[in-house]
Amino acid sequence: MHTTEKNINKHKVSPFAEIGECQTTGNKSLYATVEFKPGQVISNFSHKQILDRPNYLTVQISDHQHIMLDPEFLQYINHSCNPNVFFDTQKRVVIALQNIEIGEEFTFFYPSTEWSMDRGFDCICQSENCLGYIQGASHLPLNVLAKYKLSDYIQSKLKVE
Ligand SMILES: [Zn+2]
Repeated sequence: MHTTEKNINKHKVSPFAEIGECQTTGNKSLYATVEFKPGQVISNFSHKQILDRPNYLTVQISDHQHIMLDPEFLQYINHSCNPNVFFDTQKRVVIALQNIEIGEEFTFFYPSTEWSMDRGFDCICQSENCLGYIQGASHLPLNVLAKYKLSDYIQSKLKVE
């Protein structure tokens, strides 16, 4: 869920990131304030809380465990079908998948951690390979998922399906 580049108020929340809030929609996104190379660790994360049901801010780590992220600002990393970061829920790190420039928005592929989301949405990432309606890995064909880096949890779900 990208915001448009104009009318965005940014404020720094960490040595490597700032939150951008769209003045028109109120949508928040997270932007890089330093460069990252593919494979580089951007941040460790932990959980503030573990919920048994997903919401639009949680990251799934098992069938009935959905975490509220700590640091909290990581929850503003929006979805893209051409993501530049990955949430490794096993190692509890966010890593760069691509070169990330200063000022670039961090994005991740929601189905890389979410099996079935509580509510889907129409993606507007505008990447060439945009998948359109996003509602979790269980709703996508295997040949599409095979193009993405997926969490250990999602990979284990695909093996038993
Ligand atoms: Zn998309």
